[in-house]
Amino acid sequence: MKRIYNGHKVTVNGVQINVKMVLGFGSDDVVQRAQRIVQTAQGWLAATLPEVTSQMRGGVASAFQSCFVKAPDPAAVSTVRSVLTTTNNSIRKAHGIKIRNDDDAYGYVSLSFGGRRHLTNGMVFYDDGDVITKLGEIHLDKNTVKNNMTLAVITYIHEATHRFVNTNDHGDQGYFKNDGSAFCAPGITWQKALDNADSYAFFVYKTMLAKYKSVIVT
Ligand SMILES: [Zn+2]
Repeated sequence: MKRIYNGHKVTVNGVQINVKMVLGFGSDDVVQRAQRIVQTAQGWLAATLPEVTSQMRGGVASAFQSCFVKAPDPAAVSTVRSVLTTTNNSIRKAHGIKIRNDDDAYGYVSLSFGGRRHLTNGMVFYDDGDVITKLGEIHLDKNTVKNNMTLAVITYIHEATHRFVNTNDHGDQGYFKNDGSAFCAPGITWQKALDNADSYAFFVYKTMLAKYKSVIVT
């Protein structure tokens, strides 16, 4: 069935975000939440970037080690800084977000945790023929947006690194558990971690925790 999407233009810090939802399924609340997700991600990235130096504080260095399976040496720090800088700059320009239910996705590969959709071999086909690729719009699952704003922000950053920096997924070795305690499966190499969308998303989240003890969703 071909879906018809309804576009809602919202502004975040002067930047126009086009929030698209399947007609009839959304609500103003979801649009407002999308606005808050973008605004929060901008804030988290702005707070994280000054911490990404080769002299990073202890908690941030621990976050770096756990996400990139490598000590924060100058070359690795430079790569992470570059990816996060581009992501931060890009989400401060006009872009689109599509919000839909993931549980009706054709071809969706069920993972060991719920709430987040990930790319499989670079793309996922949905039943409306909508192909999700790294170059497409940022997709968020409505239930996550409704029920877990912190995870929705993490997911948005994950997707933004795909969209704007061409990062990849590396299966369960690359996905963090939702609470960020560990990768879903061990074994990712540091080379893959430096290209891994979830490593960036959770590094930002963990840096916020290291810096402020808790995360704030605006
Ligand atoms: Zn992904």
